[in-house]
Amino acid sequence: MTPSIRLRLFLVQALVLLAALAVVTLLAFRQQRAWALRESEETLQHAALPAAARLPAVADWDSLADRLGDELAFRVTLMDRAGRVLGDSQVERDRIAEVENHAHRPEMAAALAGRVGQAVRRSATLGLDLVYVAVPAPAGREVAVLRLAEPLTVAAAMAAALLRLSLWVALAALLLTLPLLLWAVGRHSGRIAELESVAHRLAAGDPAARAREIPADELGRLGHAVNHMAEQGRARLDALERERDEREAILAHMSDGVALVDDHARVARMNRGFAELLGMPMPAAPGTALREFARVPELDELIARARREDRPVEADLRLWAAAQRPVHATATPLPAGGGRSVLVVLHDLSESERLDRVRQDFVANVSHELRTPLTSLRGYAETLLDGGLEDAERREGFVRVIRDQAVRLEALAEDLLVLATLERPGATLHREPLNLRELVERQAAGFRARARQAGLTLEVAPGPALAVTADRVRLEQVVANLLDNAVKYTERGGVTVRLGEAEGSAWCEVSDTGSGIPAEERSRVFERFYRVDKARSREKGGTGLGLSIVKHIIGLHDGEVSVQSRVGEGSTFRFEIPRAPADA
Ligand code: ADP
Repeated sequence: MTPSIRLRLFLVQALVLLAALAVVTLLAFRQQRAWALRESEETLQHAALPAAARLPAVADWDSLADRLGDELAFRVTLMDRAGRVLGDSQVERDRIAEVENHAHRPEMAAALAGRVGQAVRRSATLGLDLVYVAVPAPAGREVAVLRLAEPLTVAAAMAAALLRLSLWVALAALLLTLPLLLWAVGRHSGRIAELESVAHRLAAGDPAARAREIPADELGRLGHAVNHMAEQGRARLDALERERDEREAILAHMSDGVALVDDHARVARMNRGFAELLGMPMPAAPGTALREFARVPELDELIARARREDRPVEADLRLWAAAQRPVHATATPLPAGGGRSVLVVLHDLSESERLDRVRQDFVANVSHELRTPLTSLRGYAETLLDGGLEDAERREGFVRVIRDQAVRLEALAEDLLVLATLERPGATLHREPLNLRELVERQAAGFRARARQAGLTLEVAPGPALAVTADRVRLEQVVANLLDNAVKYTERGGVTVRLGEAEGSAWCEVSDTGSGIPAEERSRVFERFYRVDKARSREKGGTGLGLSIVKHIIGLHDGEVSVQSRVGEGSTFRFEIPRAPADA
């Protein structure tokens, strides 16, 4: 295992510290040893100079050397000008004569030259390392040089004592510095560990993880860079998530069914529309095979064909869901991802089939409506041509029928035109402020004569003006159609119109005492060409389109139309429109 950065930092710094202390201690030791030696030489010199000055004139130089040796506690050597040793405190008297000539010993040579001579050397005489100091004796004596010596061990002992002291100091320094070092290293490695933990938290997706940026040294700057990176990453992630959500929303709200089928024919992804078209629960379990989910062999075949031919293929299929649903399916092999995924799009054709059917029904209805008056027109015209013109009694009746049928055709054409205008996409209203009560009263006045002829009353309940913003011509059409129906389908009694307002809207009710409409037919009377009593409607010149026109116009005004009725008692048609349009 790699040692921690904390341990490595500590070891490196501790080693550097140790080396520095060792070098310092070594240098100090060398200095101390030199100093101890100098000290030793100076002591010797201090003792030698007065001793040399006070040298008595004696015959037995060796005894003098011995005595001085005892006195000074150093080795004392006396030498004459020729280099012959006259006496030595540490050499036996009888061996003095054997001592070799000392004139060339460096310290002796210096003293002979009149200077203080010093040397550190192994004594050939004693076999010991000695420190020598030789001083010249006053002139005119037999003794020319007094030399003092002491073993080097004295200076060495002093140096050793000093070394011990240095070592203790070094140890104390080490003991003082190591905790400091540990603390400093711990602080730095702690900051690194903190950065590491922040990086881990960021990687784990914690958006609140932030590194420390203070103090602003290298680690602080690294922390700043990490934070900057995190913010950038977050922003990029947010943008991606937003994009993904938008894409998901588009997919989810598409009415088309979209699915991605992977190369093992499993549903990798799909939208709600896909599940709904197939009448299956959403979402499918991950990895569900399309064959199990859809159970439409033609779809499997379509996907296989798209793969085989490596191009988009299309087909109209029927899905065997709850209701048999016609769809247009497109299978497109996707090049992306390296696999052989296929994008399947199902477009629901039910609505367009329904519209087709409505269109066909409408054409059939219109043809049917046209056929009756046209047949009768042709019949009466042929009768007139085949001698009917000569029949003075009946020809006027025939021509009247022809006119009535033409009127009926005209009414039908008129109503169809109105419906077509209203149903055109983007049909607009010419809104203007108007008084609904006045509009209704004027229409009622137009119907009064017809009502009276039919033995009916026609009343508009009195009340205040009712201001609305609406399309005058279209509203007149609505009221006229309702009044027309009320008069048409009432035998006895009369028609009453009431108006009023409720929470920002105006309402109008047309009540009659007519035949009424059975409950099961009420919702259908607003359909095109729907009639409760076909014979009666035809007889009265109805087209079967009046109420669907009413419903359309009120719808364009954002209003509602409804009917309440009791068979044999009468009906009440009511419409309600906002007093001002929503966008005003
Ligand atoms: P029509 O031209 O046949 O009157 P409408 O669309 O106006 O066509 O009406 C559809 C059908 O609703 C009518 O044929 C009639 O059977 C029924 N209906 C409409 N108004 C009334 C009413 N006031 N009383 C009874 N039945 C009505």
